[in-house]
Amino acid sequence: SPVNAGTTIKPINKGVVHRICAGQVILDLSSAVKELVENSLDAGATSIEIALKEYGEESFQVIDNGSGISPNNFKVLALKHHTSKLADFPDLQSLTTFGFRGEALSSLCALGDLTVETRTKNEAVATHLTFDHSGQVTAERKTARQIGTTVTVKKLFSSLPVRSKEFRRNIRKEYGKLISLLNAYALIAKGVRLLCTNSAGRSSKSIVLKTQGSGSLKDNIITVFGMSTFTCLEPVSICISETCKVDGFLSKSGYGSGRNLGDRQFFFVNGRPADMPKVSKLVNELYKGANSKQYPIAIVDFTVPTRSCDVNVAPDKRKIFFSDEGSILLSLREALEKIYSPSHASYTVNKFR
Ligand code: ADP
Ligand code: MG
Repeated sequence: SPVNAGTTIKPINKGVVHRICAGQVILDLSSAVKELVENSLDAGATSIEIALKEYGEESFQVIDNGSGISPNNFKVLALKHHTSKLADFPDLQSLTTFGFRGEALSSLCALGDLTVETRTKNEAVATHLTFDHSGQVTAERKTARQIGTTVTVKKLFSSLPVRSKEFRRNIRKEYGKLISLLNAYALIAKGVRLLCTNSAGRSSKSIVLKTQGSGSLKDNIITVFGMSTFTCLEPVSICISETCKVDGFLSKSGYGSGRNLGDRQFFFVNGRPADMPKVSKLVNELYKGANSKQYPIAIVDFTVPTRSCDVNVAPDKRKIFFSDEGSILLSLREALEKIYSPSHASYTVNKFR
């Protein structure tokens, strides 16, 4: 017989709802670390260290030298929809921070064991906070630390048994995706030093990624991919409209990145790493005309007015909705056709010239 016959509709237990929703914000290792790195960037950090144990399976830690968190915020820090970045709905249209929904720390609490160590310039000592799965502080003690914040998450997904099993089974893949994401931040972050380390088994801590946080995209590309890769790239600068610009680097016609689709394609919107499958497809398609054997490297940042894009469409904020997507793609296509035509003169295209 149907399961709902004669039964009462009841609310799901709050803790369970919290866990389900959290699992939509934090999809995997890379989205978990992404939230923490973005919190550090929002806090004005100039140095961010990501320390993994067992590729993130055991724990991950993000250590920054940002503003720190003041003691009056400790109690609400990991409560759902508590944020210091957004006061009212209209603010959503002029976002300059990565975070704005106050969901990351609350979600991480629901999915693993969260501790925070933090100190602002107004405190002489730091505080170490332990949270429970509902986001409440369960222990608080003083500790020594420089100004800044360390967030540690142990046993991610331990509260979702099925996801936890998958997570552990796929940890190398999860780790690979995380490194690719950290590369994206290493490319785009200006004036921020990034360090990622991993300790696995009995071997000592190894450095996975290290950048000096120099000023330019060019320098960052050289740090992340090396000089030989950089010499295969051409700077692009495309003016799509008076307020929309595309800047970055693309493979020269003769020098693609090899046969692996998209492993060296990084797209950003106003400096925020984004999934842009349509743009990627377009770049690949037009590059084919110039070089049919390889896929292009693409490291491209879209500068658009904040009010014309919405980063709020997917819980993990990787998808970005442009109010003007059709015309952006069309202009991009025209520009790329020029760039990759046999007679191209320059990688700088200004529609209004
Ligand atoms: P959001 O980033 O959307 O505001 P989070 O759950 O990620 O939500 O963080 C909640 C709040 O905790 C932030 O608004 C910020 O005030 C504070 N916070 C989190 N991480 C840091 C950090 N590394 N440095 C300073 N403040 C932080
Ligand atoms: Mg955040």
